[in-house]
Amino acid sequence: MGQNFLCDPSTARMIVDRTAISADSRVLEIGPGLGALTIPIAEKTRQVIVVEKDRRLVSVLRKELENHGIDWVAILGQDIMKTDIPALAKDKKLVVISNLPYNISSQILFRLVQERACIEKAFLMFQKELADRILSPPGKKAYSRLSAVAQYAATITFVANVGPAAFFPRPAVDSTVLRFDFHAPSTVSAATETLLFTVIKAAFSKRRKSLKNSLVGQDLGLQKHAIAQALDQAKIVPERRAETLTKDEFLTLTRSVQTILEKKL
Ligand code: SAM
Repeated sequence: MGQNFLCDPSTARMIVDRTAISADSRVLEIGPGLGALTIPIAEKTRQVIVVEKDRRLVSVLRKELENHGIDWVAILGQDIMKTDIPALAKDKKLVVISNLPYNISSQILFRLVQERACIEKAFLMFQKELADRILSPPGKKAYSRLSAVAQYAATITFVANVGPAAFFPRPAVDSTVLRFDFHAPSTVSAATETLLFTVIKAAFSKRRKSLKNSLVGQDLGLQKHAIAQALDQAKIVPERRAETLTKDEFLTLTRSVQTILEKKL
């Protein structure tokens, strides 16, 4: 379950301080574990919800919070991938904080992107290599499907690097905390956004190939000539590869694909 626990209290405090949460903030912490981040979070706000999948940890966490005199944290023993995140936001957007379980950190980020209408901002710790990919600009080798989706959905900034010594057990790699200020989803319709994510996925699924080839096939259900037409309409040279496209070019391409798909109906 990606369990590397923060065991250096000053690092945990530094991370929580950099979130600048206050008594007004409603915080969702994903994977509280033994409470390394939960305790400094709960010292700043009484509106704290934590979601922990490992039920063995839930009872230990409850005890740990009790020992600190903290009885205002709502502990949900469940999988964040199955949690109804908008229901937790109620009338107030969430600040999400997490030292993410590294085995599913990409999936959790995709989930948060989809639920971003109810998220004010997120502070997430990743393996450094994955954080570098998320931050990577187009044209670099590290630019990936996750970079394109995350950069479309949020302004992303570096918060801090954390070395392996701050964790138990020690991971083999460095970690990085990133801040996500999500953009309101309203500028693009839900249907266009779903198609955009499909276009990005298809383009990166064969990232060595040029777009005129990588986009053909099952994901979009379009033949070669239709893809050529979409690229032409979007003024994107067909020989380019996914890793060179900016988020805005992906969106322009998606709109062309959408027009072609609608004509097909
Ligand atoms: N926040 C703690 C800390 O910093 O010490 C623990 C972080 S540890 C990297 C990741 C935590 O996420 C673990 O407690 C693990 O049990 C939990 N976790 C793993 N998969 C999860 C999931 N799908 N939903 C919720 N929690 C999960």
